Amino acid sequence: MITNLDFQNKSGTAEDVATVLVLGGGVAGMRAAIDLAEAGIRVKLVESTHGLGGRVAQLGFMFPTHDCVLCRGTSDHGYGCTRPAISPAFMDQNLHPNIEVWTNTQVLDVAGEAGDFTISLRRFPRYVDPARCTNCGRCAEVCPVEKPRGFEAGLTKRKAAFKVAPRAIPNAYVIDRGPYCDDCHRCEQVCPTRAVNLSEAAFDTDVHVDAIILAVGTQLYDARQSEERRFLASAWFGSIFRISSSWTFAACVSP
Ligand code: SF4
Ligand code: SF4
Repeated sequence: MITNLDFQNKSGTAEDVATVLVLGGGVAGMRAAIDLAEAGIRVKLVESTHGLGGRVAQLGFMFPTHDCVLCRGTSDHGYGCTRPAISPAFMDQNLHPNIEVWTNTQVLDVAGEAGDFTISLRRFPRYVDPARCTNCGRCAEVCPVEKPRGFEAGLTKRKAAFKVAPRAIPNAYVIDRGPYCDDCHRCEQVCPTRAVNLSEAAFDTDVHVDAIILAVGTQLYDARQSEERRFLASAWFGSIFRISSSWTFAACVSP
């Protein structure tokens, strides 16, 4: 088993607690973070999107055993869980004292060497303070902007003020202030706990860590660009068949 002693930083003593940066908050990054944290190592779990879970959190159950995807191997499997594919692993992440979760964060630069890395990070605003958000949903009710909901492969809609997933971590709403947000400030005005702050700005920060784990996940291939798709579209039966990715199909049949 990996222990903190395996990760002593170069200038430190045996009493120093090592820190590992895990880049990517999907299932691989979350698993790595939990294992390190349980070995007594401090973890900074950095994710570029609004919440943890990655693509696997979007899946319901795994074929052919019908196992819940993210719960496997975590300490709190499933009782009373409304979305068993994501909840217990997310709770472990949220509660472990050795894990610091930074979402909406991108790496700008990496310098140094094993045992002494300096990572430059940019933290983008989520415009909602997770500590104040009660998940009442009023901001989403009044928001006039609708976008495809990525959590369900774009098959449903969500507002510009929205929650990434039912059991998202951070367990709070977020404001997606893309160019489509019309800056009406209704979400800010209606929030009963003053959790929304549309003046938030991005900021840069440096962190010092002893090791880095890359768990950045995968990018979906756009099947519409495939040779097979072009062939079918050009053939006479192209108008009969509709081709969807396995990802979209999984979202369609997900419970
Ligand atoms: S209105 Fe405020 S408290 Fe309610 S979900 Fe939105 S941000 Fe959270
Ligand atoms: S400011 Fe943007 S996110 Fe907030 S309610 Fe208006 S359109 Fe929606």
